[in-house]
Amino acid sequence: MLPRWHILFGFIFTLVIWYFAPNISLFYLLLVFLSSFLIDFDHYICAVKKNGNFNIFHAFKYHEEQRNLEEKEKRRGTRKKGDFHLFHTVEFHVMIGILGIFISPFFYIFIGMVFHSLLDLIWLLKEDRFYRREYFLINWVKRLK
Ligand SMILES: [Zn+2]
Repeated sequence: MLPRWHILFGFIFTLVIWYFAPNISLFYLLLVFLSSFLIDFDHYICAVKKNGNFNIFHAFKYHEEQRNLEEKEKRRGTRKKGDFHLFHTVEFHVMIGILGIFISPFFYIFIGMVFHSLLDLIWLLKEDRFYRREYFLINWVKRLK
């Protein structure tokens, strides 16, 4: 899902939390909002690694090209996994979730991340792109060998 949609849905989600729990501090609400789209920073890291360029617009272009390539492959019947995105793995979510038990800001980051990932999953299923992602860090590490 494109960052702009994550920002929009993340903002609405944060407002909904605020409505139902008006006593939550603005700092925690901000954490939920920011983590609902900044988790996509791993996509940017990938693009920088591949292009050797820090320009964010190059990163967007890179992902657009990847998308076109994927569409071509799909038409030929090839379904390959895309880049590996660390922040989107189950293990990373679990780690932040555990930190959130002990350190409250991480709890709110965890909420934003889970919301983000649920949106991603729905979108990947809807677009028939569910196969693209590696959901487990352990599988990625195994493939490195
Ligand atoms: Zn994402």
